[in-house]
Amino acid sequence: MTNQDQISTRTISSLPNELLVAIVAAGQDCGTDFPPRAFKSEWILSQVSQRFRDVILGAPALWTLIQTDLYDLRAVETLMLYLERSAAHKISITLRSGSQYPEGPLRGCLTQILPHVERLWTLAITMSGRAIDALAPFRDVQAPHLQHLKVVITNYRNNNESIEIFSAGAPTLSSLRIDGLKLQLPPPPSWMASLTHLEVLERRALDYNNLLAAMTVQCPLLVHLHLDILWEFEEASHFHIPSLKFLQISVPDTEDEFFLEAIVDLFDTPALEEFIIYGTHGDQIFTLFNLTSLPHSSFPALTSFSFISKTSCSCEKDIPFSNSISAPPLALFPALSSLTLVNQCFTHNLVKDLFGPSSQPWPRLETVTLCPKKDIFDAVWDAVKDAVHSKSQRREPFPRLRFFRTLASLEAWQGNEPDVEMFL
Ligand SMILES: [Zn+2]
Repeated sequence: MTNQDQISTRTISSLPNELLVAIVAAGQDCGTDFPPRAFKSEWILSQVSQRFRDVILGAPALWTLIQTDLYDLRAVETLMLYLERSAAHKISITLRSGSQYPEGPLRGCLTQILPHVERLWTLAITMSGRAIDALAPFRDVQAPHLQHLKVVITNYRNNNESIEIFSAGAPTLSSLRIDGLKLQLPPPPSWMASLTHLEVLERRALDYNNLLAAMTVQCPLLVHLHLDILWEFEEASHFHIPSLKFLQISVPDTEDEFFLEAIVDLFDTPALEEFIIYGTHGDQIFTLFNLTSLPHSSFPALTSFSFISKTSCSCEKDIPFSNSISAPPLALFPALSSLTLVNQCFTHNLVKDLFGPSSQPWPRLETVTLCPKKDIFDAVWDAVKDAVHSKSQRREPFPRLRFFRTLASLEAWQGNEPDVEMFL
């Protein structure tokens, strides 16, 4: 053993207990996403020495984050160990199973969790629809401390069935994600009082739109809403959510140029600051941007608007395009400072109308993010160059331009660095 090794071994083994616990805790995070933590600090450091083991096992708070992939029955043993070692502390549990997994480990884990439901702080389950009955014991129980609930059901085929869980109440629930299966609506009133984040993804359920609209009216603190559902257009389909700041929706990409304005008009959300819509087409955006008002909706606080197309379309070949954006510009979105267009057809027309030689000045627009479809890439780049040129000739400011050639994923525009960034 070298001197260096002796020093570092001595340094580690002489760590005060409190510092050791703090180091283990610092190595943990409480996310519910997979893959699980690669380095489970409580697990690995408790095997370093007997003293480490005693200290770490004697700190129940270090055993409260349970994240397990349910391949085999060892997952049940591990879960039981964490449930025991966490003593009376609140626990955060993330389980992942799926259609290729055996059902035994999932059922075993859920059975073990049930007696600890009072301690649940987070419960995140990804599972196959085949094993949906394993959730039945959770239907009528109360989860007094549950703050985060996420249920993702893969390959579920029964459109009419809905999931009912914690119907005796979840009075501290703040975030809820139900994906792949209908949630029994309305949920108990105690669910809605503290709900701030709601994500609902289920594209087959009929009449879900209206039920969700009725539910969100009961959520006075809701700030974040993500909906991927079937859309209906009735009076009952309108969402009135005065507190909402963030909205993400998906629309079917087969609809006509008036569909987008009809969808947007479903949201009476005057405090909305960020709006992301998946599945749009360029002609729909033109129609929306030319509106001066909508019957039900206004967006006085909207600063960021993003339009993301999931699939490539042939609109440029099929639709003769002669629209242009009329004055007053973006009357419906007076506070808009960031516009994002990803994979949108007619992006070059939009750039020309929004920023080209005959466009209006946009004093509030600070950032434009563009990721054109491959087949119109050159046309978009030419429109950008023309727009920059004409703005500089008129001595008008041009927004910061973030230009992506391609994106690894549709979400990449949110965190990644663009290929070209222009400040003028
Ligand atoms: Zn299109």
